[in-house]
Amino acid sequence: MTTPPSPTASAVILHFIRTIVEDDLKSGKHAQIQTRFPPEPNGYLHVGHAKSICLNFGLAQDYRGLCNLRFDDTNPAKEETEYAEAIQEDVRWLGFEWNGEVRWASDYFQRLYDFAEELIAKGLAYVDDLNADEMRDYRGTLKEPGRNSPHRARSVAENLDLFRRMKAGEFADGTRTLRAKIDMASPNINLRDPVIYRIKRAHHIRTGDAWCIYPMYDYTHCISDALEGITHSLCTLEFADHRPLYDWVLDHISIPCHPRQIEFSRLELLYTITSKRKLLQLVNQGLVAGWDDPRMPTIHGMRRRGYTPAGIREFARRIGISKSENVVDMSVLEGCIREDLESSAPRVMAVVRPLKVVLSNFVAGETGSRSAGFHPQHPEFGEREVPIARELWIEADDFSEVPPPGWQRLTVGGEVRLRYSYVIRCDAAIKDAAGQVVELRCSIDPATLGQNPVGRKVKGVIHWLSAEHAVPAEIRLYDRLFTVPRPDADKEHDFLAFLNPHSLAVVQGWVEARAAACAPETRYQFERLGYFCADRFDHQPGNKAVFNRAVGLKDTWAKESV
Ligand code: ATP
Ligand code: MG
Repeated sequence: MTTPPSPTASAVILHFIRTIVEDDLKSGKHAQIQTRFPPEPNGYLHVGHAKSICLNFGLAQDYRGLCNLRFDDTNPAKEETEYAEAIQEDVRWLGFEWNGEVRWASDYFQRLYDFAEELIAKGLAYVDDLNADEMRDYRGTLKEPGRNSPHRARSVAENLDLFRRMKAGEFADGTRTLRAKIDMASPNINLRDPVIYRIKRAHHIRTGDAWCIYPMYDYTHCISDALEGITHSLCTLEFADHRPLYDWVLDHISIPCHPRQIEFSRLELLYTITSKRKLLQLVNQGLVAGWDDPRMPTIHGMRRRGYTPAGIREFARRIGISKSENVVDMSVLEGCIREDLESSAPRVMAVVRPLKVVLSNFVAGETGSRSAGFHPQHPEFGEREVPIARELWIEADDFSEVPPPGWQRLTVGGEVRLRYSYVIRCDAAIKDAAGQVVELRCSIDPATLGQNPVGRKVKGVIHWLSAEHAVPAEIRLYDRLFTVPRPDADKEHDFLAFLNPHSLAVVQGWVEARAAACAPETRYQFERLGYFCADRFDHQPGNKAVFNRAVGLKDTWAKESV
């Protein structure tokens, strides 16, 4: 006997689905597992989908199985090719590759149709003439059983004839449906003769106008899974009540494969929303710049913001898989991104709210320089020269005229070290007519390059840039999109009422030349400021520098909420 495949990842967190998979491999029920990720191309994927992607593709990877990417394209009215393309890009960007070609539920339309005829022939499906309102009335409630439709007893021949004529386009939209004949008295409403086909004249992104009847999701999904040889069909908890229907369909058609549906809880991420419909609303109302706005919890948005695939995968691993509520604070996601960038992003200096410093004892026209490593723990990242000249930029809030107790940064008469360079003393603050400090006059202590000043301690270290060597940059400071943990839980207010008015501030700052010349999507730590990413679309190396703040250096929200 060969040993069953076991997880290859180093820090696997065991969960109940892994246990099922491992048992199935051990018992020989399956020699290899096969999962699938089945998005509907009706919007961009969000962080909740990332959880599902990491689960499905991750299991396949860990147990040397396969994972399909299958579009659930059974609702032609809402689906678009743009979404389907963005979804494929997202899966790949997260670091996964699907098995073979992309699949589409629409690839199976003919087979789904044939299985429907099989159900009719077996007396297990019938054409109904009730309209939607009547059907609702007949369906009953949670407390009361439903009633049989007056058309339920149609003969097989009549049903076949009507179903074929539905397909041929003889009836108007909504006038007839095909229903599975199960049990109108079932306590599970999903089993009260669910509709499995409807008439809808809508142009489909793949099949065009070839069909005017479309199979319903529950009917399509289980058959698509079975046709692809899926072993474990993983979905979110709201489908638990649909499982009996999933099984019923597969039990009553001629298909050898019967995947096991297993449900897990959806991710709910606080301070954002995970509903495609609501995200679409933000886009359509122009409240964000698009699906890939860096404030959006979409995979496209997180990517543009500067989040890393490894950070998102780690987040998915940490939040785990279970059947109990999966409400997770945004700080958990931010923490995973921060940890990844902490070790992977080179460090450079940038100034986002610049204040001019003139070094009065530094000769005009001269340049000094000192080399500095890109990362203290990673000498292999290399070094660059950090130039210094007479005029500098420092961060405006690193200077205070009337400093609070314990201030270690600059104030008139005080000293501070310039990171990688000299200790400077502030001799005077120059103000404009309005009394605003616009420039500092400072002097360097020439004996402090690479050594401590003699006879006194200088505790503060600030970041800075040589004005003539720095390159201007547009810096986009992003913050959370919502001000409350659960924007869509309030009964009285629409979620839009909780949009954070300060979720974006655009400032003109300065960066090291090296950073300005980097490729789009390069990530850096700007020392003392946070992690930033060169904008995927607007940053033009050597021409226009645009950086997005991915995440701060520490969790500022946690502090504020204490
Ligand atoms: P939405 O409600 O945002 O439209 P959906 O479930 O309708 O999401 P699908 O495209 O049908 O979107 O989802 C594809 C897969 O991703 C499904 O298996 C679904 O269960 C899973 N999924 C969607 N949202 C979440 C979530 N928040 N957490 C975990 N998995 C999710
Ligand atoms: Mg859906």
